[in-house]
Amino acid sequence: MSPIVTALLYFLATVASLQFFRFDNGVAQIWLPGALLAARLLVLPRSEWPSNAVAGVIANAIAAGLFGLGWSVALPLSCVNVAEAIAAALVARRLIDAHWPSHPLELMSGCYLGIGLAVPVCSAFVGAIFVHAIVGVPFESNFLHYLVGHSVGLILLLPTGLAVAGAVANPALRPTRSRLLLYALFFSAMMALTFAVFGQRVPGFMLLPLVFAMLAGMWTDSMVALALPLAIAIAGGLQTWLGHGPIQLFRADLGDQLQAQQLYSAFILLCTLPVVAEQERRRHEIGRLANREEHYRRLVVEADDTIRHLTRAAFTDPLTGLANRRAFFDQMRASISRGGADCIAILDIDHFKQVNDRYGHTVGDDALCVFARTALQAVRASDCIARIGGEEFALLLRDTSIDLAEKICERLGQRIAETGIPVPGGEIRVTISTGIATLGDDPDAAFLAADRALYRAKNAGRSRLVVAA
Ligand code: GH3
Ligand code: MG
Ligand code: MG
Repeated sequence: MSPIVTALLYFLATVASLQFFRFDNGVAQIWLPGALLAARLLVLPRSEWPSNAVAGVIANAIAAGLFGLGWSVALPLSCVNVAEAIAAALVARRLIDAHWPSHPLELMSGCYLGIGLAVPVCSAFVGAIFVHAIVGVPFESNFLHYLVGHSVGLILLLPTGLAVAGAVANPALRPTRSRLLLYALFFSAMMALTFAVFGQRVPGFMLLPLVFAMLAGMWTDSMVALALPLAIAIAGGLQTWLGHGPIQLFRADLGDQLQAQQLYSAFILLCTLPVVAEQERRRHEIGRLANREEHYRRLVVEADDTIRHLTRAAFTDPLTGLANRRAFFDQMRASISRGGADCIAILDIDHFKQVNDRYGHTVGDDALCVFARTALQAVRASDCIARIGGEEFALLLRDTSIDLAEKICERLGQRIAETGIPVPGGEIRVTISTGIATLGDDPDAAFLAADRALYRAKNAGRSRLVVAA
């Protein structure tokens, strides 16, 4: 499919160039097909280039044979033309890969030097030799006309051609409806302005399209700025062809006048180049900064999350989700500074080692979790329950007398003893021993007192509570 489309487009563009834009000696004033083929190749994968190039050669040779310098020179010239388009596409691809989007000035100036100058110089040289040798047209004037026609064709048409080919090939590159409207507005405004300017024989007015192109380059995007010289070429070319405008002041034949007008259009494009490139660079830089900002913002959010997570982990027992020993001591200190009359209790599961030994560590872990859930349900939300060691837990009972603390711990001990812990083949029950002490104003002293009371409870036979003396 694609070589046929290429052949058709290339044929039509060649016929248009040869039929409507041609000097008397047969050379086109502006060579339209070169930019079209280069743009088309640029959006096609490299593997499709050979078939499309062959299609281009055939299409070009037929068009040249029918409407150009005749069949004798058609094939060699069409090979030169297609080679020129391939070279332009190769240069553009290399420059785009190296410089887009970070260095638009290097990209654009590289394109205009390579594609607007170096490539057409080579093709004009070879083309003019062929034409001279086969048809007998003088080399020098043919070379110059050929060079300018091909250079201007590539400069004026390649940016727009590439944008159109890109939008056709890739939906992601298609401009939005509002962008399209904007392009149409600017393009029509430039057409109207150029039409007016080229309706007068006042050379000074020729600066106006340049000013407008530069302003457009600053206000809008590079696509608009790079397409506007086409509007100048169309509107200005029409007026020149009709015999109006400042180009008439050149006493030359119509072909030279039209090529001068096209050169002027390409010149406007080259003048706006720094503005367009600078705008592109800024846009790229702003995008890059916005990405960075977003990246740092995400990093800060992630760091906050990590800090929150680590802080929580530092104060939480991973198995039961209860507060850990560090958090318990913090809570005791906070309670003391609030000045409440609090009690603490240390609870230790009796003969817990046997549970592990008999049923394995996993069942032991489950038992610890059952204990944590049961204990949480048995105390108030304002109290604090923590896992301070393997099978040791601590309880901070706020604004609680020692008598009440005793009752609460007794009730908790009963609940634990009544709660079944699932084991393979049934349930087991465990008891706890508890040591209770008033918090006072020294957390270490209170902890030690409760621990000693617990030790006494263990020594007294377990499954009981002892209040610190
Ligand atoms: P006592 O009545 O004297 O407290 O006897 P005990 O077996 O409960 O006490 P001991 O200090 O001898 O053993 C405590 C056991 O708790 C030892 C260890 O296997 C178990 N243990 C400690 N931490 C964990 C844990 O995170 N998971 C499990 N499954 N077991 C634990
Ligand atoms: Mg124990
Ligand atoms: Mg223990």
